[in-house]
Amino acid sequence: LAQLFRPLDLLGMVYRTIRQGLIDMEAMYQLIDTQAEVADAPDATVLRAPGGAVRFDHVRFGYDPEREILHDVSFEVPAGHTLAIVGPSGAGKSTIARILFRFYDIQSGQVTIDGQDIAEVTQASLRAAIGIVPQDMVLFNDTVGYNIGYGREGASQDEIEAAAKAASIHDFILSLPKGYDTRVGERGLKLSGGEKQRVAIARTLLKDPPLLVLDEATSALDSRTETEIQTVLRDISRKRTTLVVAHRLSTVVDAEEIIVLDQGRIVERGRHADLVRADGLYALMWNRQASERESLPGEAGIGDVF
Ligand code: ATP
Repeated sequence: LAQLFRPLDLLGMVYRTIRQGLIDMEAMYQLIDTQAEVADAPDATVLRAPGGAVRFDHVRFGYDPEREILHDVSFEVPAGHTLAIVGPSGAGKSTIARILFRFYDIQSGQVTIDGQDIAEVTQASLRAAIGIVPQDMVLFNDTVGYNIGYGREGASQDEIEAAAKAASIHDFILSLPKGYDTRVGERGLKLSGGEKQRVAIARTLLKDPPLLVLDEATSALDSRTETEIQTVLRDISRKRTTLVVAHRLSTVVDAEEIIVLDQGRIVERGRHADLVRADGLYALMWNRQASERESLPGEAGIGDVF
């Protein structure tokens, strides 16, 4: 009898993996009608990525083949490390994150996770390995508990609450009229940008992926919320391979490597202190932002300084 049920278990697992992938895509791209343009290879394997190490090797890409957006981009994020991508608006930062999800196929070069080419693994297994904290998450029209619990099928109430505590949103949820059963989303209670981001963090904590993509907020949260969220994000990224798409400088300072992207090219790379010392583009951004921080505390964004 057990033999008979094994294929059903497998089917259940496949279903859950696909669903998880769809949830994350939806969270990242907000609109589900932006359909994936890529297909699984006929002999696609399941990605096994315990470390989540990322490698972009001479990647060239354009949404339209006539207009190349990323020109020969190469970088590596070793397992457990944090890489931050900074640069002006339109430089290609979010494009790198979309390519990592294989939302688009690249024109040439290779992208690997733990040594496996992402074009040769199933998209469902790829997306199941990546957790994303987007800058503006779309919530489901359901309870706040459901929205967090979506991170992992079958999560218990205790696990959901533990994740909410770690994301510093538990006390806020308890203050709502129906606690975890309060309906949120378009037809329910509207949460603020900072609250939605914390729900996204709690959901990601439940999912517990080896690889994390943080899309930092462009819009300024109030500085206390921002500091709290940064503390939580720093904590969860410490134990995981993390790619930060940084619109602001806050998480960049601690990154093991920063790449400065300008018009689809890496123009500088290194740690914060080295880049400041190098006195190039990054130093210029940093100094300008420092002076803006003095005049407008908590308001300066990295894109504003170009
Ligand atoms: P920002 O800091 O403003 O978010 P970014 O560095 O993340 O900018 P991308 O969103 O990666 O920049 O965009 C890089 C370039 O690709 C831009 O010139 C943009 O116009 C173009 N682009 C982005 N998305 C698409 C798309 N779906 N189709 C065509 N071109 C696109």
